[in-house]
Amino acid sequence: MTELQDSYDVLIAGGGPAGASAAIHLAQDGARVLLVEQKRFPREKLCGEFISPECINHFRRLGVLEQMICAGGAQLTETVFYSERGRKVSVPSVWFNEEQMGAALGLSRAEMDARLLERARRAGAHVLEDTHAHDLITEKGIVRGVRLKESNSRVLDARSLITIDATGRACALVRHIKDETGASSFRPAPNKRRASLVAFKTHLSDTRAESGHCEIYFYRGGYGGLSAVENGLSNLCFIARARDVRECGSDPLRVMREIVCSNERARHTLAQARAASAWLSVSLEGFGRRRVVPARGLLTVGDAASFIDPFTGSGMLMALESGELAARAIARRLAELRHGEGFDSLAREYRALYEARFNRRLRISALLRRAAFVPGLAATAISLFATSDRLRRRLAQATRNNAKGRMRRI
Ligand SMILES: Cc1cc2nc3c(=O)[nH]c(=O)nc-3n(C[C@H](O)[C@H](O)[C@H](O)COP(=O)(O)OP(=O)(O)OC[C@H]3O[C@@H](n4cnc5c(N)ncnc54)[C@H](O)[C@@H]3O)c2cc1C
Repeated sequence: MTELQDSYDVLIAGGGPAGASAAIHLAQDGARVLLVEQKRFPREKLCGEFISPECINHFRRLGVLEQMICAGGAQLTETVFYSERGRKVSVPSVWFNEEQMGAALGLSRAEMDARLLERARRAGAHVLEDTHAHDLITEKGIVRGVRLKESNSRVLDARSLITIDATGRACALVRHIKDETGASSFRPAPNKRRASLVAFKTHLSDTRAESGHCEIYFYRGGYGGLSAVENGLSNLCFIARARDVRECGSDPLRVMREIVCSNERARHTLAQARAASAWLSVSLEGFGRRRVVPARGLLTVGDAASFIDPFTGSGMLMALESGELAARAIARRLAELRHGEGFDSLAREYRALYEARFNRRLRISALLRRAAFVPGLAATAISLFATSDRLRRRLAQATRNNAKGRMRRI
């Protein structure tokens, strides 16, 4: 076993938007940061690839706005929700970011994530790709760093004052926290659905989606989204019940044809569509909150902290926001932390900031989730929300903002 020579202020496991956001902000604030990512970027990632307009403000603060705009993505000015029988309701992207009058961006995760990771490197973070965060290093119950495994199986110990789990829904570090009996104290997300779900994604050519629209289709047991990305392709990403997937022989194309296309609008837009990339799939265990300070010395950000329902199109926004929130809280206490003090105040502050920022939108998304998986309820909700722009706008904003409907300063 080798010990990394440098010791770091902050070690971040996971180079998705949450980890990269935290790394960039911390490095800009003068912290010594190590970011480890198990894959080599660019890599494909299962996601709807709808980048909500508020992310533009984050990209600007992160110093990557220019790179994102130049990446060749699509401008998405509306999200249109379709019931199984073709009723629809539309949410203009501008409602999410009224100050900027912005459109959402359709851009592959391969492109977006690679740009963020490269920016973290340029900001001064030490970035290791092809490196798996394998276990926690703990002393007297306090997390002191992470045991890493490189792709050549070399094991390294990396030490840090604070560790951040940014490994997404995998919660790869939190899983290693042990209780007093030595057993793993990791619990699945609180809102675990009894019937587990499977998500699929591919890039398609020859769809008939309306230009500038992100289309969301509801059907029995799930929903899917179609929107343009770079290179004239569309991203199709959908969720279906595991048992329905098994009935289709776990063949994504059959699931698309037999389940997603039970939605009238999807049947029309996907009639001639052809897969232009490999299908990705992943099983989903549940949605909602986890612990943001699961152990002394360890914080969580992004999906490792909470997984918001994909139909809100706001998971990446929450990842960028929570990465920034954690980074700012750590940076404010860096001097104390370097003297071995200040973790408890940091934990209290981060927990409070996190709850103030995200609790309301997570609650509202959980309520909407009930309708999302039941076609009859989804159709009723679509008819109801179609009657009032005001109601729709308020609901759309409530899936993102805090109680006052506006962002508080971090
Ligand atoms: C079906 C579906 C559709 C979605 N559609 C949208 C959408 O359209 N818009 C939107 O905003 N959000 C969407 N989301 C949510 C969005 O994908 C997530 O919220 C976002 O990716 C969270 O970012 P993150 O950085 O927390 O995690 P991730 O993006 O998952 O990144 C985690 C990173 O950690 C790495 N990692 C994992 N384990 C380890 C380890 N042990 N060691 C080192 N590295 C590790 C992974 O390789 C990965 O790169 C969707 C989610 C799903 C499931």
